[in-house]
Amino acid sequence: MPRLCESALHRRGERFRKDLPLRWGDGPRQITRGDVVFTRVRVAVFVDGCFWHGCPDHFHAPRHNAAYWRQKLLANQARDARNTAALRARGWTVLRFWEHEEPEDVAAIVCAVVRARRSRPERRPDPTTTKGPHEAGPSTSTTTSGGR
Ligand SMILES: [Zn+2]
Repeated sequence: MPRLCESALHRRGERFRKDLPLRWGDGPRQITRGDVVFTRVRVAVFVDGCFWHGCPDHFHAPRHNAAYWRQKLLANQARDARNTAALRARGWTVLRFWEHEEPEDVAAIVCAVVRARRSRPERRPDPTTTKGPHEAGPSTSTTTSGGR
């Protein structure tokens, strides 16, 4: 990840791991590296190079060996898509940016996502699906008469 993005995140008080290996499958080689990773909230950020990942604004296929480069690019993009999907299936939130994107913008988006994840931990049961006991009026707990 570009240094500027990292310092923009630091300025926002975020702590993260850099260049962290992430397992996207169970095979021995099914590992990719997240540029910036927030392990606790499981947010992985990738900043893709404009050339190697085929940015629509900045990728220009070299004239020499054009077919080779095209092939290479398609393979990279396919791998990116596969890694993203596999990580998401494993519960990761995956954010991808282009290296040309404004570092402050990238940092702002990353922070917003991380903070949203932090305030809404995954383990907490979803209130829309839990059926819970009947919402009885205030009478249930107040009137415990009797006893000895
Ligand atoms: Zn670009």
